[in-house]
Amino acid sequence: MAKIGARAPADRSGGGRPAGAPAAGLLAPRPMEGRIVPDPGRGSAWITAQIRQAIVDGAYGHGEKLPAERQLAEAFGASRTTVRIALGQLEEERLVTRRVGSGTFVNYRSRGETEDIAEVTSPIELIEVRLGVEPHMVRLAVLNSTARDIDRLQEAVERMERGSTDPESFTQLDEQFHMLIAESTHNPLMVWIYREINDVRCHAQWAAMKDKVLTSERIAEYNTQHRNLFETIRSRDVEGAVAIVTNHLHYARRQLLGAGSE
Ligand SMILES: [Zn+2]
Repeated sequence: MAKIGARAPADRSGGGRPAGAPAAGLLAPRPMEGRIVPDPGRGSAWITAQIRQAIVDGAYGHGEKLPAERQLAEAFGASRTTVRIALGQLEEERLVTRRVGSGTFVNYRSRGETEDIAEVTSPIELIEVRLGVEPHMVRLAVLNSTARDIDRLQEAVERMERGSTDPESFTQLDEQFHMLIAESTHNPLMVWIYREINDVRCHAQWAAMKDKVLTSERIAEYNTQHRNLFETIRSRDVEGAVAIVTNHLHYARRQLLGAGSE
């Protein structure tokens, strides 16, 4: 779907045009032909639907400014009050953000824009997702891991135990260990999801924090937890493994919250 009005397709390379740039198409003499059919009788719900569709279809990128109320009112053949109600609804749906004095901005990332999910996910948000995923992932690993998986997990634990207390190399080994647990589920979707989660862990927000969070004492504590987690997986202790990984993540969460408040 095109933008509201007859503008050229959005430039997707740079996250939208600069704030305040004019929505030229709306001012053109015949902007609406074949795109938006003015229909005052249908009211704000219909306008909400039209704008929502334009946003979801990517006609307006994340952070981009929507045309002004006056321009939307002209485009839809509606009053400004009706347009304001429609925008209020979109704001309730969190598809737009309205800033007094500057306008209405799109708050929606289409699929093509989500490769920067790592940019917008904080370390705490990452841990929250891991708390949702990993206990069950570990449960599946206990049930489905093969002798070969157990060997690989053992190697990974021993690498961490031998490894340095350098936060960077510990983080890499830690990622590998948890990825091996994901692979031990033998569920391809779980492996895929966990790979995405691991990608977020590589991001700068965590990179900036890990030197503060990962003291050598804490690395030693994490390695004890990894060893215990491995032993429960090896002995097929489902509940034990779930409890340990849950504690492991809560422990990490507490460290992050501590670092954030310093
Ligand atoms: Zn870990």
